[in-house]
Amino acid sequence: MLQHSFVLDALETTGADTFSHFEVLIQEHRELGDSPQPSRLQQLVPTIGTFHTHLPLRDAFLIYNEKHRLTKRKHIQISFNEIRHILNLAQIMELRKERDGESVKTMMTSSSRLDSEDDSRQAWVDDMEIPDTDDSAPVAQLNGPKLISFDGDQTLYSDGANFEENPKLANYLYLLLRHGVFVAVVTAAGYDYNVEKYEFRLSGLLKYFEKRGLTPTECERFYLFGGECNYLLRLGSDYHLHPVPEDGPGGWCNATKFLKDAPANWSESSIQSLLDVAEENAKETVAELNLRGRVLRKRRSVGLVPQPGQEITRESLDETILRVHEKLRSMHNGQGPGLPYCAFNGGTDAWVDVGNKRVGVQVLQTFLGVEPTKTLHIGDQFLNTGNDYAARACAPCIWIINPKETTYILKSILRLAGVSFALPPVGKTIPSSPSLDFKEVERRAVAAKNIDVYTGQIYTGDLSNKKESQP
Ligand code: IMP
Ligand code: MG
Repeated sequence: MLQHSFVLDALETTGADTFSHFEVLIQEHRELGDSPQPSRLQQLVPTIGTFHTHLPLRDAFLIYNEKHRLTKRKHIQISFNEIRHILNLAQIMELRKERDGESVKTMMTSSSRLDSEDDSRQAWVDDMEIPDTDDSAPVAQLNGPKLISFDGDQTLYSDGANFEENPKLANYLYLLLRHGVFVAVVTAAGYDYNVEKYEFRLSGLLKYFEKRGLTPTECERFYLFGGECNYLLRLGSDYHLHPVPEDGPGGWCNATKFLKDAPANWSESSIQSLLDVAEENAKETVAELNLRGRVLRKRRSVGLVPQPGQEITRESLDETILRVHEKLRSMHNGQGPGLPYCAFNGGTDAWVDVGNKRVGVQVLQTFLGVEPTKTLHIGDQFLNTGNDYAARACAPCIWIINPKETTYILKSILRLAGVSFALPPVGKTIPSSPSLDFKEVERRAVAAKNIDVYTGQIYTGDLSNKKESQP
């Protein structure tokens, strides 16, 4: 729908108006709310989701075009990726409240006129020299989202890898925490409450927080939701993750049991029947399609993962997922499994998880008291066979394709909020916290390279010589 709307050679005059038209369609759709009457947008795109906020698409297009000069192109249409970038930009612009007398455009371009030839707009794109940040200075609440949830694989670190060295991204996450933002990794990877397994996957990031001396209050703003919405952990002042109690006063299950799909309301028998169907389907598919994979069953998920050194094609993984969708939908005479779930193609593997990121993000919003319009979910899997797709129902989303784009988005959010984000200048080291245990840091970093991401099993030494460690 979007691509048909652009006519090459006429974009200079029609491009911005086309985005204004999308804005009108979105606004109409939002105003109709739950009305049975379908909006014009819904008629054009029957699978359209919820727009939690207004989207300033025209302004976002103008700013994007300033840099990339899309309207000057004579042969190549505006691409899907460019539209994705413009939508992302519009979303983060909207989440920033306007300041008195200062427009978003001014913040983004460092120039009050969009058509200015001033090189300063280039500064928006490149890294500028910004005064060093003072780690101990008091900071104000960020003028932007209050809760940002991140997918793990391919969003914070490459698929199947871990958060090892990425000082730029770590710095931006650190600055968000410093500025009062709740940061949560909401990942499908589920290792029960085996804290050390999650810590290994985030070792570089936790090490960075420790080096920068994040305060106890700031640490407490960092969460990890494992298994989509099953295992909630919080960063403590010791820079280790700790399970958040589920029950009792302040327990996260307890505090969210009024939500219809909350984990507190799942019965163990429904969980097991869902996993039985998923496991049987995965085994049948492996046999029938002759896949070089093995089936894993965990407490809240079933996975089809490649055998060591083998690959399963995207087509086979998609087929596995579509088959299991069909089976799960037909449970209980077509009523479905009676629990929220997520069946997705993870790129190299396929999983059925009990629960999904909609529930994960919603539980966090409720537990932390953040409304959907102040939340952002950032992820890479927004096709209907992906697991970030579900989060669209409860939060505005940013669709990125790799950690580099995540880094760019965070830089944009911080820039829009007027936060300076330079790392300390070369030669000036970050003061290390007196409690930093370098041996422990080193041990985690080495071990992080040797973890089976499917099971969380940690190996010592060489991966080819797999011998499980005793953490
Ligand atoms: P995410 O992108 O951070 O949501 O992580 C998804 C990836 O986590 C999957 O593609 C798997 O490789 C890995 N993973 C490990 N354990 C699980 C599990 O129990 N369920 C789903 N994915 C898992
Ligand atoms: Mg991912």
